[in-house]
Parts: sequence; C-alpha cells; structure tokens
Amino acid sequence: MNRLIHVGFGNIVNTDKIIAIVSPESAPIKRLVQKAKETGLAIDATQGRRTKSVLHFYPRRLREEHRRCGRKMKKRTVKKMQNKGILMVISGFSGAGKGTLVKKLLSEYDNYALSISMTTRGPREGEQDGREYFFRTREQFEENIAKNGFIEYAQYCGNYYGTPKAYVEEQMQAGKDVILEIEIQGAMKIKEQFPESLLLFVTPPSAKELQKRLVGRGTETADVIAQRLARAYEESEGMDAYDYIVVNDDLDECAAAVQKYVEAAKNVPSRRVEFITEIREELKGFAKGAK
Ligand code: ADP
Ligand code: 5GP
Repeated sequence: MNRLIHVGFGNIVNTDKIIAIVSPESAPIKRLVQKAKETGLAIDATQGRRTKSVLHFYPRRLREEHRRCGRKMKKRTVKKMQNKGILMVISGFSGAGKGTLVKKLLSEYDNYALSISMTTRGPREGEQDGREYFFRTREQFEENIAKNGFIEYAQYCGNYYGTPKAYVEEQMQAGKDVILEIEIQGAMKIKEQFPESLLLFVTPPSAKELQKRLVGRGTETADVIAQRLARAYEESEGMDAYDYIVVNDDLDECAAAVQKYVEAAKNVPSRRVEFITEIREELKGFAKGAK
C-alpha cells in the first residue's frame, strides 16, 4: 500500500479503506508529512480543511513508518476502550443486603466507584445528602429529567430515583468499575443502553430471611415493610433477566463472588481485542514458518 489521500483536517484515507482517523496535530502524522515534504514525495501536503492532496510514499522506509504510526494509534484507541471500567448494576429486594454488600466491596477492593442516585424520598435516620443519595424535591428531580441529566430513572413505591450521568461517565473513563445500586426497571434501561454492562441480582437465601432482615433493620414501619415485600414478589418475576443471581448468605463469600463476576466481565472477547490481535499476529508468524 503506497497511495494515501490526505483529505484534510487530519483524516488520512487510502483508496481502499480507512486506515485511521487522526488529529492533524498528532506528532507522528506531522513527522510523516514533514518527511514526505523533505524528500519531495508529498504533493501539497496540508492546507487545512481544504486539502485534497495525494501523498505518494514510495520508499519502504516511509511505508514502514506509516504502518508503525497506524499500529500505535489503533493500539492506543483499543487500550483506552479496554481500560474503561465496567458498568455494573446491583439490584435486589429491599432488605436483601445490597447496601451492606456495596459497602463491603468498596472497603475490600479498590476498583469500584459508587454512583450516588438522586431521589425524591426523604432521608432515613443517619442518611446524609450527597452520601447515600442526593435528596431533592419532585420539581428539582423533574428539572433534571428535562435537562437530560440522568442515565436512567424510575419510580419506586411512589418516589423518583435516578442515576446522574456525569459522575458515571467520568469514573468509567478513569477506569473504575461503576456500581449502580438500582431497581429492576432502571437495570433494564441500563442493559438496553449498555449491552456490555454486568447485571447482578442480590437475594437473601430465603423469603423468610428477607422479612427478618427488613424487620431487623428497623428503618421502615410495618406498612412500608409489607409494601416492600409485595414489591419483592413483583421483582422476583424479573430475576432471570440478570447476568448472575448473587445469594447474600455469608457476606464475605458474597463479596468474593461479585469480584469474580466483575473479573469475568472484563475478559469477554470484545474487551480483550488487543490481546487477541497480538496473539493472532504471533501465531501468524508461526504459520508462516517462524521458529
Ligand atoms: P438493602 O440495601 O438491600 O435494602 P441492607 O444492606 O440495608 O439491604 O440490609 C438489610 C438488613 O440485612 C440490614 O440490617 C443488614 O445489616 C442485614 N444484612 C445484610 N447482609 C446480611 C447478611 N449477609 N447476613 C445477615 N444480615 C445481613
Ligand atoms: P431505598 O428507598 O430502599 O433506598 O431504594 C429503593 C429502591 O430504589 C432500591 O431497589 C434501590 O436499588 C433503587 N434505586 C436507588 N437509586 C436508584 C436509581 O438511581 N435508579 C433506579 N432505577 N433505582 C434506584
């Protein structure tokens, strides 16, 4: 391949296929163009957006350099994608131990970031604005819906709950595995938007144990507990839409199981493109007779 069309604004296209979309300011491209100019091989190299020039790279040295640039850029893009953290959902019946499990994960491992939701329900005793939730009025919540500020939101037992967008995006880019502790309608919306997300459903070992935990927590009235248990029955209908069922019996074992599922989610082939490409290249060498 020795014929490239420089279409301007950093987009380098060959006549058969796109090799890479690059920044016009990127150092390797500048070097490449500069070399081509110096050796008289570039015809009209750069004229900003108006450029429609053809670069002829005849010498092997320059062709090699271009290939190297392309490889480096592709690798960098792939690496960036793969270094992105995963988006994981933890759902489960109220009282199953989601909050307890999330605390454990955050204290035992350093790969997680917890998204803090916005809600219209009032704070429970001991809960703080900005720590457990951002507690807001219905008007404020609806304003944020209008601003497209949520990744997802849903109504649960008469209140709004939603996941603010900015923090999640920021933390995933920084390589953190972002935990959304959300209910089932929100989980389904997440799976739709992010098919590679990991959906976990946390449950106690039995319904009786669920009731015991809800009562034992002592944060809800008997009425609200009954409402939440009824809701749990409805939610049980959706359990099979999740990737894994996580039985929270022994908390340590439960947290270790979650960590394993997260590691597994990081090894799906679409996140291991770089490794697959490298080993394929090495094997190609053997196939061609390398010793
Ligand atoms: P959720 O966030 O799912 O509503 P919580 O984390 O508040 O549930 O847990 C509900 C109650 O169950 C709490 O009192 C908590 O201490 C207790 N709990 C959580 N996990 C376990 C467990 N593995 N074994 C026994 N009790 C637990
Ligand atoms: P609680 O009132 O017990 O804190 O939460 C009630 C339910 O709302 C729980 O199942 C919890 O996981 C869910 N929830 C919390 N935040 C969000 C959110 O941002 N979005 C959705 N869809 N559900 C949430």
